[in-house]
Amino acid sequence: MAKPRAACLIGWPAAHSRSPLIHHYWLQTLGLPGGYNIEAIPPEGLAEFVLHLKAHGFVGANVTIPHKERALALTTPDERARAVGAANTLWYEGDELRSTNTDIEGFIHNLDACAPGWDGATGDALVLGAGGAARAVVFGLIERGIKRVYLANRTVERARALADQFGVQVHPVSWDAIGEWLPRVDFLVNTTSLGMHGQPALEIDVGRLPPHSVVADLVYVPLQTPLLAAARARGLRIADGLGMLLHQAVRGFELWFGQRPQVTPELRALIEADLTKL
Ligand code: NAP
Repeated sequence: MAKPRAACLIGWPAAHSRSPLIHHYWLQTLGLPGGYNIEAIPPEGLAEFVLHLKAHGFVGANVTIPHKERALALTTPDERARAVGAANTLWYEGDELRSTNTDIEGFIHNLDACAPGWDGATGDALVLGAGGAARAVVFGLIERGIKRVYLANRTVERARALADQFGVQVHPVSWDAIGEWLPRVDFLVNTTSLGMHGQPALEIDVGRLPPHSVVADLVYVPLQTPLLAAARARGLRIADGLGMLLHQAVRGFELWFGQRPQVTPELRALIEADLTKL
Protein backbone atom coordinates (compact mmCIF):
# COMPACT_ATOMS: atom_id res chain seq x y z
CA MET A 1 0.00 0.00 0.00
CA ALA A 2 1.27 3.50 -0.88
CA LYS A 3 2.40 5.65 2.03
CA PRO A 4 0.03 8.58 2.73
CA ARG A 5 1.25 11.91 1.39
CA ALA A 6 2.91 14.17 3.93
CA ALA A 7 3.96 17.82 4.02
CA CYS A 8 5.91 19.67 6.70
CA LEU A 9 6.75 23.02 8.20
CA ILE A 10 10.45 23.90 7.98
CA GLY A 11 11.66 26.41 10.59
CA TRP A 12 14.42 27.10 13.14
CA PRO A 13 13.70 27.00 15.92
CA ALA A 14 10.46 25.30 14.92
CA ALA A 15 8.36 27.76 16.88
CA HIS A 16 4.91 26.96 18.16
CA SER A 17 3.22 27.18 14.76
CA ARG A 18 -0.52 26.82 14.12
CA SER A 19 0.09 25.23 10.70
CA PRO A 20 -0.11 21.60 11.96
CA LEU A 21 -3.45 22.33 13.66
CA ILE A 22 -4.84 23.88 10.48
CA HIS A 23 -3.69 21.11 8.10
CA HIS A 24 -4.65 18.26 10.46
CA TYR A 25 -8.12 19.81 10.78
CA TRP A 26 -8.52 19.84 6.99
CA LEU A 27 -7.14 16.30 6.56
CA GLN A 28 -9.57 15.06 9.18
CA THR A 29 -12.67 16.94 8.00
CA LEU A 30 -12.05 16.01 4.34
CA GLY A 31 -11.36 12.38 5.30
CA LEU A 32 -7.99 12.35 3.53
CA PRO A 33 -5.05 10.18 4.55
CA GLY A 34 -1.96 12.34 5.00
CA GLY A 35 0.35 13.99 7.45
CA TYR A 36 1.86 17.36 8.34
CA ASN A 37 5.03 17.39 10.47
CA ILE A 38 7.17 20.07 12.05
CA GLU A 39 10.80 19.85 10.92
CA ALA A 40 13.27 21.90 12.97
CA ILE A 41 16.10 22.50 10.49
CA PRO A 42 19.08 24.72 11.38
CA PRO A 43 20.41 27.11 8.70
CA GLU A 44 23.40 24.87 7.94
CA GLY A 45 21.07 21.96 7.15
CA LEU A 46 18.50 23.85 5.07
CA ALA A 47 19.95 23.33 1.58
CA GLU A 48 20.33 19.55 2.04
CA PHE A 49 16.81 19.23 3.49
CA VAL A 50 15.05 21.34 0.84
CA LEU A 51 16.97 19.92 -2.12
CA HIS A 52 16.06 16.39 -0.97
CA LEU A 53 12.56 17.10 0.34
CA LYS A 54 11.06 14.13 -1.53
CA ALA A 55 13.73 11.75 -0.19
CA HIS A 56 12.88 13.01 3.30
CA GLY A 57 9.33 11.79 2.69
CA PHE A 58 7.52 15.02 1.81
CA VAL A 59 5.43 16.12 -1.18
CA GLY A 60 5.85 19.76 -0.17
CA ALA A 61 6.39 22.16 2.71
CA ASN A 62 5.67 25.44 4.38
CA VAL A 63 8.72 27.50 5.23
CA THR A 64 8.93 29.92 8.12
CA ILE A 65 11.46 32.15 9.89
CA PRO A 66 14.40 32.31 9.26
CA HIS A 67 14.39 30.28 6.02
CA LYS A 68 11.90 32.03 3.70
CA GLU A 69 14.45 34.04 1.68
CA ARG A 70 16.85 31.10 1.21
CA ALA A 71 13.98 28.81 0.26
CA LEU A 72 13.32 31.17 -2.64
CA ALA A 73 16.88 30.69 -3.92
CA LEU A 74 16.80 26.90 -3.49
CA THR A 75 13.61 26.41 -5.55
CA THR A 76 11.94 27.60 -8.76
CA PRO A 77 9.82 30.50 -7.53
CA ASP A 78 6.69 31.89 -9.19
CA GLU A 79 6.08 35.59 -9.78
CA ARG A 80 4.50 36.02 -6.32
CA ALA A 81 7.42 34.59 -4.38
CA ARG A 82 9.83 36.69 -6.45
CA ALA A 83 7.80 39.87 -5.82
CA VAL A 84 7.69 39.29 -2.06
CA GLY A 85 11.33 38.16 -2.01
CA ALA A 86 10.45 35.13 0.10
CA ALA A 87 8.90 31.67 -0.36
CA ASN A 88 6.53 30.18 2.21
CA THR A 89 5.06 27.24 0.27
CA LEU A 90 6.94 24.54 -1.70
CA TRP A 91 5.57 21.78 -3.94
CA TYR A 92 6.72 19.51 -6.73
CA GLU A 93 5.80 19.84 -10.39
CA GLY A 94 7.24 16.56 -11.65
CA ASP A 95 10.73 16.55 -10.20
CA GLU A 96 10.97 20.33 -10.06
CA LEU A 97 10.59 21.92 -6.62
CA ARG A 98 8.47 25.05 -7.07
CA SER A 99 7.76 27.81 -4.58
CA THR A 100 5.25 30.58 -4.05
CA ASN A 101 4.26 33.09 -1.41
CA THR A 102 0.68 32.60 -0.23
CA ASP A 103 0.57 35.71 2.00
CA ILE A 104 -0.72 37.64 -1.04
CA GLU A 105 -3.81 35.51 -1.54
CA GLY A 106 -4.18 35.05 2.23
CA PHE A 107 -4.55 38.80 2.61
CA ILE A 108 -6.83 39.27 -0.40
CA HIS A 109 -9.11 36.27 0.19
CA ASN A 110 -9.55 37.31 3.82
CA LEU A 111 -10.61 40.78 2.66
CA ASP A 112 -13.06 39.13 0.24
CA ALA A 113 -14.50 37.11 3.12
CA CYS A 114 -14.65 39.95 5.68
CA ALA A 115 -15.54 42.90 3.48
CA PRO A 116 -17.22 41.58 0.30
CA GLY A 117 -17.09 44.10 -2.54
CA TRP A 118 -14.17 45.94 -0.88
CA ASP A 119 -12.54 46.47 -4.26
CA GLY A 120 -15.72 47.70 -5.97
CA ALA A 121 -14.67 51.33 -5.66
CA THR A 122 -10.99 50.48 -6.28
CA GLY A 123 -9.92 53.55 -4.36
CA ASP A 124 -6.68 54.38 -2.61
CA ALA A 125 -4.93 52.55 0.23
CA LEU A 126 -2.59 53.58 3.03
CA VAL A 127 -0.23 50.73 3.92
CA LEU A 128 1.89 50.99 7.08
CA GLY A 129 5.20 49.09 7.00
CA ALA A 130 7.65 48.10 4.29
CA GLY A 131 8.81 44.59 5.19
CA GLY A 132 7.99 41.26 3.54
CA ALA A 133 4.35 41.38 4.66
CA ALA A 134 3.95 44.85 3.13
CA ARG A 135 5.29 43.58 -0.22
CA ALA A 136 2.65 40.82 -0.20
CA VAL A 137 -0.12 43.31 0.64
CA VAL A 138 0.96 45.85 -2.00
CA PHE A 139 1.20 43.14 -4.68
CA GLY A 140 -2.32 41.94 -3.84
CA LEU A 141 -3.87 45.42 -3.72
CA ILE A 142 -2.38 46.42 -7.08
CA GLU A 143 -3.37 43.10 -8.67
CA ARG A 144 -6.97 43.73 -7.56
CA GLY A 145 -7.07 47.19 -9.10
CA ILE A 146 -6.34 49.59 -6.24
CA LYS A 147 -5.38 52.89 -7.90
CA ARG A 148 -2.81 54.27 -5.47
CA VAL A 149 -0.99 52.84 -2.50
CA TYR A 150 0.43 55.36 -0.05
CA LEU A 151 3.19 53.69 1.91
CA ALA A 152 4.37 54.92 5.32
CA ASN A 153 7.30 53.29 7.06
CA ARG A 154 9.39 54.33 10.05
CA THR A 155 12.53 53.84 7.96
CA VAL A 156 11.73 55.84 4.84
CA GLU A 157 14.47 54.22 2.70
CA ARG A 158 12.65 50.88 2.93
CA ALA A 159 9.41 52.53 1.75
CA ARG A 160 11.29 54.07 -1.18
CA ALA A 161 12.84 50.71 -2.11
CA LEU A 162 9.41 49.09 -2.11
CA ALA A 163 7.99 51.91 -4.26
CA ASP A 164 10.91 51.48 -6.70
CA GLN A 165 10.06 47.79 -6.95
CA PHE A 166 6.33 48.21 -7.56
CA GLY A 167 6.30 51.35 -9.72
CA VAL A 168 4.24 54.49 -10.07
CA GLN A 169 1.17 53.29 -8.17
CA VAL A 170 3.11 53.22 -4.89
CA HIS A 171 3.87 56.55 -3.21
CA PRO A 172 6.11 56.71 -0.12
CA VAL A 173 4.75 59.14 2.50
CA SER A 174 6.21 60.33 5.77
CA TRP A 175 5.57 58.20 8.86
CA ASP A 176 4.92 61.43 10.78
CA ALA A 177 2.21 62.51 8.32
CA ILE A 178 0.00 59.40 8.56
CA GLY A 179 -2.81 61.43 10.15
CA GLU A 180 -3.00 63.71 7.11
CA TRP A 181 -3.49 60.78 4.72
CA LEU A 182 -6.22 59.01 6.69
CA PRO A 183 -9.17 61.12 5.37
CA ARG A 184 -8.02 60.53 1.75
CA VAL A 185 -7.96 56.71 1.66
CA ASP A 186 -10.48 53.87 1.38
CA PHE A 187 -8.25 51.21 2.97
CA LEU A 188 -5.85 51.23 5.89
CA VAL A 189 -3.57 48.23 6.33
CA ASN A 190 -1.16 47.73 9.22
CA THR A 191 1.71 45.44 8.20
CA THR A 192 4.05 46.59 10.98
CA SER A 193 4.48 44.65 14.20
CA LEU A 194 3.03 47.60 16.18
CA GLY A 195 0.05 46.48 18.26
CA MET A 196 1.44 42.97 18.61
CA HIS A 197 1.60 41.55 22.12
CA GLY A 198 4.77 42.95 23.74
CA GLN A 199 5.20 45.70 21.10
CA PRO A 200 4.22 49.38 21.36
CA ALA A 201 0.69 50.29 20.26
CA LEU A 202 -0.02 51.78 16.84
CA GLU A 203 -1.16 55.33 17.61
CA ILE A 204 -3.71 56.12 14.90
CA ASP A 205 -6.96 58.07 15.06
CA VAL A 206 -9.32 55.93 12.96
CA GLY A 207 -11.92 58.68 13.44
CA ARG A 208 -10.15 60.47 10.57
CA LEU A 209 -10.89 57.68 8.07
CA PRO A 210 -13.93 58.03 5.76
CA PRO A 211 -16.97 56.09 7.07
CA HIS A 212 -16.93 53.59 4.15
CA SER A 213 -13.29 52.62 4.68
CA VAL A 214 -11.94 49.15 5.47
CA VAL A 215 -9.23 48.52 8.07
CA ALA A 216 -6.97 45.45 8.02
CA ASP A 217 -4.35 44.45 10.56
CA LEU A 218 -1.89 41.61 9.92
CA VAL A 219 -1.09 41.22 13.62
CA TYR A 220 -3.03 38.32 15.17
CA VAL A 221 -1.64 38.19 18.71
CA PRO A 222 -3.79 39.66 20.22
CA LEU A 223 -6.64 38.53 18.01
CA GLN A 224 -8.34 41.90 18.23
CA THR A 225 -5.65 44.58 18.08
CA PRO A 226 -6.37 48.06 19.49
CA LEU A 227 -6.47 49.30 15.86
CA LEU A 228 -9.19 46.81 14.91
CA ALA A 229 -11.10 47.43 18.15
CA ALA A 230 -11.17 51.19 17.42
CA ALA A 231 -12.20 50.61 13.78
CA ARG A 232 -14.98 48.23 14.82
CA ALA A 233 -16.23 50.69 17.47
CA ARG A 234 -16.46 53.31 14.73
CA GLY A 235 -18.53 50.93 12.56
CA LEU A 236 -15.83 50.39 9.90
CA ARG A 237 -15.39 47.03 8.17
CA ILE A 238 -12.34 45.12 9.40
CA ALA A 239 -10.17 42.17 8.36
CA ASP A 240 -7.93 40.56 10.97
CA GLY A 241 -4.57 38.79 10.89
CA LEU A 242 -5.91 35.39 11.90
CA GLY A 243 -8.21 35.35 8.88
CA MET A 244 -5.19 36.05 6.66
CA LEU A 245 -3.20 33.27 8.35
CA LEU A 246 -5.99 30.75 7.69
CA HIS A 247 -6.58 31.82 4.08
CA GLN A 248 -2.84 31.72 3.24
CA ALA A 249 -2.76 28.02 4.23
CA VAL A 250 -5.39 26.97 1.66
CA ARG A 251 -3.19 26.81 -1.45
CA GLY A 252 -0.45 24.66 0.09
CA PHE A 253 -3.00 22.08 1.23
CA GLU A 254 -4.56 22.01 -2.23
CA LEU A 255 -1.17 21.59 -3.93
CA TRP A 256 -0.09 18.75 -1.62
CA PHE A 257 -3.32 16.84 -1.02
CA GLY A 258 -5.35 17.62 -4.15
CA GLN A 259 -8.46 19.17 -2.59
CA ARG A 260 -9.18 22.82 -1.92
CA PRO A 261 -10.14 23.18 1.77
CA GLN A 262 -12.49 25.77 3.28
CA VAL A 263 -11.77 28.32 5.98
CA THR A 264 -14.73 27.56 8.25
CA PRO A 265 -15.94 29.21 11.48
CA GLU A 266 -15.13 25.88 13.20
CA LEU A 267 -11.48 26.04 12.05
CA ARG A 268 -11.24 29.65 13.14
CA ALA A 269 -12.64 28.79 16.59
CA LEU A 270 -10.08 25.97 16.91
CA ILE A 271 -7.14 28.28 16.22
CA GLU A 272 -8.59 31.09 18.33
CA ALA A 273 -8.78 28.69 21.28
CA ASP A 274 -5.13 27.74 20.72
CA LEU A 275 -4.04 31.38 20.50
CA THR A 276 -5.82 32.32 23.72
CA LYS A 277 -3.75 29.66 25.55
CA LEU A 278 -0.75 32.04 25.20
P1 NAP B 1 9.51 42.73 8.89
O1 NAP B 1 9.98 42.47 7.50
O2 NAP B 1 10.44 42.57 10.04
O3 NAP B 1 8.91 44.24 8.91
C1 NAP B 1 8.50 44.82 10.12
C2 NAP B 1 7.84 46.16 9.84
O4 NAP B 1 7.38 46.71 11.09
C3 NAP B 1 8.80 47.18 9.23
O5 NAP B 1 8.08 48.01 8.34
C4 NAP B 1 9.25 47.97 10.47
O6 NAP B 1 9.69 49.28 10.18
C5 NAP B 1 7.96 48.03 11.25
N1 NAP B 1 8.18 48.30 12.68
C6 NAP B 1 8.68 47.45 13.61
N2 NAP B 1 8.76 48.09 14.81
C7 NAP B 1 8.29 49.35 14.62
C8 NAP B 1 8.12 50.48 15.47
N3 NAP B 1 8.43 50.43 16.79
N4 NAP B 1 7.60 51.62 14.94
C9 NAP B 1 7.27 51.69 13.62
N5 NAP B 1 7.42 50.64 12.76
C10 NAP B 1 7.91 49.49 13.26
O7 NAP B 1 8.24 41.81 9.24
P2 NAP B 1 7.12 41.26 8.25
O8 NAP B 1 7.48 39.88 7.86
O9 NAP B 1 6.83 42.27 7.22
O10 NAP B 1 5.88 41.12 9.27
C11 NAP B 1 5.26 42.26 9.80
C12 NAP B 1 4.05 41.88 10.66
O11 NAP B 1 3.08 41.17 9.88
C13 NAP B 1 4.39 40.96 11.83
O12 NAP B 1 3.59 41.37 12.93
C14 NAP B 1 3.95 39.59 11.35
O13 NAP B 1 3.58 38.72 12.41
C15 NAP B 1 2.71 39.96 10.53
N6 NAP B 1 2.36 38.97 9.51
C16 NAP B 1 1.14 38.36 9.60
C17 NAP B 1 0.76 37.44 8.65
C18 NAP B 1 -0.60 36.80 8.75
O14 NAP B 1 -0.84 35.77 8.10
N7 NAP B 1 -1.51 37.35 9.54
C19 NAP B 1 1.62 37.13 7.58
C20 NAP B 1 2.87 37.78 7.51
C21 NAP B 1 3.23 38.70 8.48
P3 NAP B 1 11.25 49.56 9.86
O15 NAP B 1 11.45 49.23 8.41
O16 NAP B 1 11.41 51.02 10.15
O17 NAP B 1 12.05 48.69 10.79
